[in-house]
Amino acid sequence: MSCTRCGGTAVIEEFLDDKGSSLGFEGLRCLNCGHIEDSVIHSNRGGGGSFPRPSRHEHLLG
Ligand SMILES: [Zn+2]
Repeated sequence: MSCTRCGGTAVIEEFLDDKGSSLGFEGLRCLNCGHIEDSVIHSNRGGGGSFPRPSRHEHLLG
């Protein structure tokens, strides 16, 4: 694994929330610059822009 920011060595770490409960996520932490990348963000990129709009029908009363 390499850091997307600096290209350094990144390791997979498990991050816990503030309470230290079981709600955690896995992410990459760069040993070089300290950049943290969420694996969810990493795999869910490229959205937006071409979101399909639902067609709207107008009703004429009367
Ligand atoms: Zn880095």
